[in-house]
Amino acid sequence: MKKLIIFTLLLASTTLFAQKIILERIEPPFWWVGMHNSELQLLVYGKNISQSEVAIHSETIKLKKVHHVENKNYLFLDIEIAENTQPGNFEIIFSKNETDLTFQYELKQKTEQKRGFSSADFIYLIMPDRFSNGNPKNDSPEKISEKADRNNPDGRHGGDIQGIINHLDYIQQLGITALWLNPTVENNNPNYSYHGYAITDFYKTDPRSGNDSEYKKLSDELHKKNMKLIMDMIFNHCSINHWWMNDIPMNDWTNTNSEFRSNFRGSTVPDIHASNDDIKRMTEGWFDKHMPDLNQNNPFLAEYLIQNSIWWIEFAGLDGIRMDTYPYPFKEFMTKWTERVHKEYPDITLLGETWLQKPAFTAYFSENNSISGNYNSGLNSVTDFPLYYATRDAFNQQDGWSEGLASIYYILAQDFLYGNPYNNLIFLDNHDLDRYYTSVGKDIKKMKMGLAVLLTMRGIPMLYYGTELLTEGEEHKGHGYIRTDFPGGWKEDKINAFNEEERTFEQNDSYNYIKTIATWRKTSKPVTEGKFMHFVPENNVYVYFRYTNNEAVMFILNNHPSEKRLINTNRFSEILNNYSTGINILTKEITDIKKSIEIQSKSAIILELKK
Ligand code: CA
Repeated sequence: MKKLIIFTLLLASTTLFAQKIILERIEPPFWWVGMHNSELQLLVYGKNISQSEVAIHSETIKLKKVHHVENKNYLFLDIEIAENTQPGNFEIIFSKNETDLTFQYELKQKTEQKRGFSSADFIYLIMPDRFSNGNPKNDSPEKISEKADRNNPDGRHGGDIQGIINHLDYIQQLGITALWLNPTVENNNPNYSYHGYAITDFYKTDPRSGNDSEYKKLSDELHKKNMKLIMDMIFNHCSINHWWMNDIPMNDWTNTNSEFRSNFRGSTVPDIHASNDDIKRMTEGWFDKHMPDLNQNNPFLAEYLIQNSIWWIEFAGLDGIRMDTYPYPFKEFMTKWTERVHKEYPDITLLGETWLQKPAFTAYFSENNSISGNYNSGLNSVTDFPLYYATRDAFNQQDGWSEGLASIYYILAQDFLYGNPYNNLIFLDNHDLDRYYTSVGKDIKKMKMGLAVLLTMRGIPMLYYGTELLTEGEEHKGHGYIRTDFPGGWKEDKINAFNEEERTFEQNDSYNYIKTIATWRKTSKPVTEGKFMHFVPENNVYVYFRYTNNEAVMFILNNHPSEKRLINTNRFSEILNNYSTGINILTKEITDIKKSIEIQSKSAIILELKK
């Protein structure tokens, strides 16, 4: 008797709520016809939505399966879009007790465009909150918890997408061809929200950065200038404030718990001696107690993330993706991701952040390498941290068997580990590292040596915003100090460094040094497409060449603190025999290369060789 009463009560309450069908989200919010993959999985979210029947009445669009999961507020719909489907809306009908709710789902036409970036590019990394405030009205939106406060180094400062659009000429004139922005999707967190790596909505541009159409506008403006856009994505974690964390779809949507932290040791993934405990901490531990570790072994989450990346590529016309914390998610899933993206967009460049100290670890995560056995990531480009450490330290050290210039030499001598080291992303600093000018003790000579290496070395060069202005900053003081505001990005700034006249002599010297080499670099086939050959450093001098079948560039570094060097060119005859002179691309002077070349202390020479 008791049981019957409870049953009746339950039924009554169900009937009460059944009057209304609540639909809060469908993601992806729209899709495209003409995709290589005809399948689409929609995440549907709304109070008790799983109690609804779902139907699609269309000749070309088929509802293949409706998935009910642990949480009754979710449905996952498998949809097949036939090849002959025309762009436009189709109806998804949700029914419950004679009540219907119709959702118009839009299918746009997929566009065909050239995608990808390469060693012919020169990338500029921008922390969007810290570059330029193009729209002060969006600094502190009502529904966003953290408001702007420029006095707080870790606070939100107001920089946005419009600010970047406003300064594309400045960036292009420096010789840049591609932009990578730290994430601009919503990070609605109470504090420390400016960096963008704690996502609260994967499908929405943060209102303080702008909106989705402004992001698309940035991409369009870049493409008009023959420049490219690389989007920063994170599959490893989201924010504890992500909308789904309050109402998790399935218990295994995230891994472990906030007390179980990552050991941040990417080395455990390739390590043949690694303990299961260490591997589990690396792949399932939380990156931060505010950043839940996403479980990409859950097939619905896996599909959600893959589709999200494809959605942004198609929506914004991306040329590449920079994937944050690449070694942290399950590697099998990440390989599935690169395969799926490349099936849809064969030419797009996928770059992974592989923050590891040794070339073997970095190479392990790059595609077609010679060491990872059956595991082939399909990742086109990796961040060359080993080379970063070498170029950071080499000019501060006395040359020795493995110190100074030899440290650069030994990193490059290990390129046999990579499938294609020419695709490595190379850099002198970034948003997580000491500013390069600070690393080299504010010595402009050392700074220029680093910049010259960056722009002629094998790989895809990347410059962190403000490095061209000799910006200083030490990471150990806090990330806010290496992510300072670009001077002149805010109307109230006393100095506007976007203007040549307002920059110091030293800043213009640095800016013009980069500009000269980067502008020349664009036209240099040996540097952008050619091979690399180096000679073992001797007597404080390191010489390398970039070359094609009929062109070559000679690069010379003298790392001695005070002595110039006279280099006998005999040693380099295997390249130099084909040439008689070299044009110094910085001074435009013609240099005779037949016998010897003189180089001042702490300097670099770049010679375009002539027959
Ligand atoms: Ca703003």
